[in-house]
This record gives sequence, structure tokens and C-alpha cells, in this order.
Amino acid sequence: MKFTESEKHNEVAQEHILGGVNSPSRSFKAVGGGSPVFMERAKGAYFWDVDGNQYIDYLAAYGPIITGHAHPHITEAIKGAAEDGVLYGTPTRYENQFAAMLKEAMPSLEKVRFVNSGTEAVMTTIRVARAYTGRDKIIKFAGCYHGHSDLVLVAAGSGPATLGSPDSAGVTKAIAKEVITVPFNDIESYKQALDHWGDEVAAVLVEPIVGNFGIVEPAPGFLVAVNELTHDAGALVIYDEVITAFRFKYGGAQNYCGVEPDMTALGKIIGGGLPIGAYGGSQDIMETVAPLGPAYQAGTMAGNPASIRAGIACLEVLKEPGVYEKMDELGGMLEEGIRRHAKTHGVPITLNRLKGALTVYFGVDGVANYDEAENSDGEMFARFFKLMLEQGVNLAPSKYEAWFLTTEHTKDDVEKTLEAVEAAFSKL
Ligand code: PMP
Repeated sequence: MKFTESEKHNEVAQEHILGGVNSPSRSFKAVGGGSPVFMERAKGAYFWDVDGNQYIDYLAAYGPIITGHAHPHITEAIKGAAEDGVLYGTPTRYENQFAAMLKEAMPSLEKVRFVNSGTEAVMTTIRVARAYTGRDKIIKFAGCYHGHSDLVLVAAGSGPATLGSPDSAGVTKAIAKEVITVPFNDIESYKQALDHWGDEVAAVLVEPIVGNFGIVEPAPGFLVAVNELTHDAGALVIYDEVITAFRFKYGGAQNYCGVEPDMTALGKIIGGGLPIGAYGGSQDIMETVAPLGPAYQAGTMAGNPASIRAGIACLEVLKEPGVYEKMDELGGMLEEGIRRHAKTHGVPITLNRLKGALTVYFGVDGVANYDEAENSDGEMFARFFKLMLEQGVNLAPSKYEAWFLTTEHTKDDVEKTLEAVEAAFSKL
């Protein structure tokens, strides 16, 4: 496979765009460097790059593209929005329709607000929780990524961890002091943190199923215990469902796990590929927000008709019967094949999978928290990543990210992927 056109574009990108990319996780820094692939076009489960190479895509744009690229129903919705004018600065009936769909899917959302990104959604839930409780501190779990607002760039996973800066420079000591970090799946540590700081804590931020140091499920009872202990301390539980909402089940991780938070942050999938975020919670808590309450949040682009109409279309596709079962079945095929090839070729892996999402960690035996994910072999992952890319399989360039299936992947795609995995494992 040749990447000469990508390399040329990368040279230009390096000249004009800081680091050559508009989001750090797109760089190939963590997989041994080199030019990222410049994509030209995508359809269904496939990508074509500027050199004409074709790929099976498991990046799914880091999650949002759950119905595959350029899904006809979503494309129609976006075309309709473009023809009707993309931004009004007034309310639209589409926002009502979409808010009602989200509420129906997640009954814990008595009231919602649309914003433009997952970062904004999480940032705002924290502000609302602080305003509601009159307290300042938050607790987060190590290695969970909650966007790039100051407060959550402490012990952050995903991109920051990949690039070696889980505690970002530029976050003041005063802000970092307001964040308490505990290991995921460790209820004793969580209890100790609350015993110590409980009456100062406004909220705990939880990825109910972790997506940002790979796919890691909560241990049995963990989420229920977090809810109980947090409420006993007079604090709120915020679920960051930016990755998990509508990923594993219609209705999100709260539906899948059967545990309800006080507030929820959403993003990614609910925009069908266009920029969006949303947050919500009980009537009582949400009344803290302007214009009803004293906590301010606003946005020129918030609830823009293009993102909203794309989001409605995306959820309509996901509501169709059999969608999640199909992704689960293909996920199972991938898991079984990867495990089999790893055994044959003596490649030490841990594979965490839930439905249509999975992570392959190299050189570790079990991953239930960030430290275990961090200990996995990044160098071996980097070699695997490049070997897969050269065979036309596009993964995220980080050992901490997930492979995402879409509604458009087929058994044939999975079989081709497994052939590539076997060839890659034979060379590791
Ligand atoms: N929360 C989680 C759990 C995420 O995975 C991400 C993005 N990967 C964010 C928040 C931030 O979302 P965005 O990139 O849309 O700002």
C-alpha cells in the first residue's frame, strides 16, 4: 500500500495546522510517528484515502458513526436541513421532537438542553451540580476522559493519556485541587474519598461503561454502590454517556445497567456525525439553569437544526429491530477470531468486548482499571496498528481506544478483518 498522497498532505498540514491535526488523537505520534492517513470519502463501513486505498473502518470517528458513513436516512436529513437554512437563532420544532426522543429513551432526563460537544455537555453538568449543591469539588475516576474543559483534564484517559499528558499543563493548581481522582471499579477507594471530602463534593463523574482506556465494564454492584454512597454524601451522580449512549443499547448505559444517575451528559452518536452535545436531569436540578435559575449556559449553535435533524434520523435507524443484536453478533465473531489467532501465534492479549465495541490490549492479563490499561504494551500495539492499516483495516492510533462496529459492517468485513489480524499476529 502506498501513502504518498497522504504524506504530501501531511507536509502541508504541518505547515499550517498545529501538529498537523485538529484533534491530537488523530496524530500517529503514539504509534511510532509517520503521516496520518488523509481520508477522501467514506460510505457504510468503508473509507477511501487520498491515495485510493480502501479500508474497513473500526474507528467510526471515535464513536459517532454507529450507523456507518453517509447513511442514506441521515444524509437525507442533513440535505433537508441544508435546504431549509442551517441556523436560525430561534427555537425549532425539531428540538422538541429530539428532546422528547431522548427523554423517552432515558427517563432520568426530565429536562434536557442541547449544546455542541461532549466537552460542553460535561462542563455544564459540573457547573449545574455545583450550583445545585453549593459545593465545589468533584470526584472522577482515573483514566476516564470527559472532554477538555479544565476541571476534567486531571488523570484523563484517551488522547491525553495516549500522548503522555493525563494532567494537562495550563490547568491551574486551584482548579486541580477541586478534583479528586479514584481508581475505577474500586469501591473502597471511592468510599474513602467520600469519608474524607464527602461534604465538599458536588458530584461524581462516571463513565458508566468506560470507553476511554479501552472498553471496561463496571464490576457487579459498582454503579449501585456509587449511587448509594454519593447520595448519602449529599452529592450528585453524573453519567458521562458521551460514548455509551445508544452504543450498547437504545437508551444508553443507564438503561443497559439499570442504574439511573441524577444528571447525564451526551454527545457523539446523538448527532449522527454532526457536532452535538446534550445534558439533562431531573426537573428540580435542571431548574438551576438560566433562564429559570442562576447557573448560566448558552450557545449560538446550540440545537442547530442540522445537528438535531441528523440526530433524530440516527436514532430512528437505531430504533429499528435487530440493530444491536447484529452489532453484538459481529462483535462476538471478531472476539472469537482474534482470541483464536492470538492463541495460535502466541500473542499475549486481553480482549474486552461489550456488544459491538471491543479493545485488544497487548501483554497484560486482564484490564479492569486504568493502571492495567496503561501497563499494556504500547509498542506491540503500534506494530499491530500499522500492520492492520497496511492491510486496509482502520483502527484508532492508540492502545486506549475501542474498535467500533456499525450497523453497516457485514460478516464478510469481519472475516476479511480476521484474515488481516492473523497475518498481523504472525509478524508481531
Ligand atoms: N466524554 C467522553 C466519555 C468522551 O469519550 C468524550 C470524547 N471522546 C468527551 C466527553 C468529549 O466529547 P467531545 O470530543 O465531543 O468534546
